[in-house]
Amino acid sequence: MTTCNQMTTQGKDKTRLRIAIQKSGRLTEDTLKLFRSSGIKITSNKDHLLSHAENLPLDVLRVRDDDIPGLVMDRVVDWGIVGQNVLEETTMQRDSEGLYTGYNEVLKLNFGDCRLSVAIPTEQEWQGLSSLEGKKIATTYPHLLKRVLKKNGISFKAVLLTGSVEVAPRAGLADAICDLVCTGATLQSNGLKEVETIFESKAVLISRDQELYPEKKKTADLLIERFKGVMSAAESRYIMMNAPKNRLEEIRAILPGAENPSIIELEGNKERVALHVVSREKLFWETLEQLKSLGATSILVVPIEKMLG
Ligand code: ATP
Ligand code: ZN
Repeated sequence: MTTCNQMTTQGKDKTRLRIAIQKSGRLTEDTLKLFRSSGIKITSNKDHLLSHAENLPLDVLRVRDDDIPGLVMDRVVDWGIVGQNVLEETTMQRDSEGLYTGYNEVLKLNFGDCRLSVAIPTEQEWQGLSSLEGKKIATTYPHLLKRVLKKNGISFKAVLLTGSVEVAPRAGLADAICDLVCTGATLQSNGLKEVETIFESKAVLISRDQELYPEKKKTADLLIERFKGVMSAAESRYIMMNAPKNRLEEIRAILPGAENPSIIELEGNKERVALHVVSREKLFWETLEQLKSLGATSILVVPIEKMLG
């Protein structure tokens, strides 16, 4: 049930779902791609703070990723897409300031994968987290770092930096760093080595922890189904092949995450059939080679654009 108080905090517009996304950065392209694949058409002037979907009651707020959890927790927007690293850090930061930290995780998304790791100068020895005792560590994520080190009984001094964290040791600002890593190339070029991962992150869709107005809820439910459909389609493949009837069991056994296949008779051939199946996982070359060795021919693996039901 919607209370009076909830009515006022959801703003004037009770019909258009409002979502905050990163304006420009590593989450932006994947977020917009998810929107496009889900049939959301937005007027794409990225310099505007607020844009509207042309074909759905959806408004998109483009902001810095660091602001997204707060906008959801303060109920300025209904939804937000943000990395779990920023979400966790902001939650702990707001908690320490006595601010409200409620939100719901709606969906884990299939992009924004990265890890928060400790790195030290290459020439230094590493004997586990205890090597950090009493050290100065440069980071943008002091709360996440503190949570892990405190659990291990290690005290340290956080040097708070919001950018160029990886140059801190060379500049004499810190002994080690705790930063986001994807390939490790940035660390290497700054004379650092990754020694310990403290947090694994991916992008998530979050919502305010409050019942949505019915019209917004309708849009939200529709979009959740479409987002799920886009993500499972991205991982799935449609596989077709001609196969010998007497090896069908063996062939089915090696198809990963496959649903019941359609088996179709081949005109003028009693020994072979056509087999069509949706596989929920990507297929490796090794599997295709095994299929071939079992007598399959004309093996086609096709990406799937959309999936529903
Ligand atoms: P903003 O200007 O919005 O504050 P930013 O510089 O803080 O941007 P980005 O570097 O764009 O942030 O990263 C945004 C988020 O993308 C990170 O918080 C993390 O969740 C995720 N991310 C970071 N590095 C990678 C990566 N190499 N690949 C994929 N996702 C990443
Ligand atoms: Zn940021």
